[in-house]
Amino acid sequence: MKAKGQIFIVSAPSGSGKTTLLRKLLEEDERLRFSVSYTTRKPRGRERNGKEYFFVSEMEFETMIERGRFLEHAKVFGNYYGTSRQYVEDCVTAGTDLLLDIDTDGAAQVRRQLPEAVTIFIMPPSFQALEQRLEQRHLDSAETIRQRLDWASREEIHQFRHYDYVVVNDLLSRSHDQLRSIVMAERCRRDRSLEQIENILKSFGGDSIDR
Ligand code: ADP
Ligand code: 5GP
Repeated sequence: MKAKGQIFIVSAPSGSGKTTLLRKLLEEDERLRFSVSYTTRKPRGRERNGKEYFFVSEMEFETMIERGRFLEHAKVFGNYYGTSRQYVEDCVTAGTDLLLDIDTDGAAQVRRQLPEAVTIFIMPPSFQALEQRLEQRHLDSAETIRQRLDWASREEIHQFRHYDYVVVNDLLSRSHDQLRSIVMAERCRRDRSLEQIENILKSFGGDSIDR
């Protein structure tokens, strides 16, 4: 019996350090693929089409919604973002573990459809640290930063309660270790190791797993 791919969903208020942490995790973990989302926002900095996102127009995005192409989609800070249903299904069937970097609204939509998905919430160590990180990143205007902080305080930060795990991104190396450990521990769950266990049992002369 071939094991299905495991889905890991990671959400965080903007500026918490999620991109930094996920980049490092993906670099080190060859079994983990990144689900490239579709978005109507414009590319930022060195972002390339097909790498960080698939950049599409509002019309293209809305056509994709009508055709049921998204597993989930949401409007975040005025732009559409969505996860390809086909890509997720293909990875799960092929046994490939998949990382979804999506907002809390999208995470709730996926959780309803795929309750076996593992959800991780990344928290900044404080409001002040979040503010400082958004400023030092030099990506957003003062007005955008104000909007992001306001949304983080009113809505996003409270969503941690719906997630399986919380990682407080204080010291980067420690948060990274925590994130890696979550992924490793989830892979060791009995139900996800049945293929390997079955082979081991065979070597012991047993038939198959008694479930
Ligand atoms: P997000 O993807 O959550 O919006 P980023 O990964 O872009 O956040 O990080 C925002 C800023 O905070 C970046 O300048 C990044 O270098 C910095 N940063 C990330 N993690 C930490 C950390 N643990 N301590 C201090 N600064 C951090
Ligand atoms: P950014 O524009 O800074 O890359 O992302 C803004 C927010 O959109 C982040 O919280 C990110 O997690 C979220 N996001 C990125 N892709 C998707 C997606 O496919 N679906 C949803 N719901 N949110 C997404």
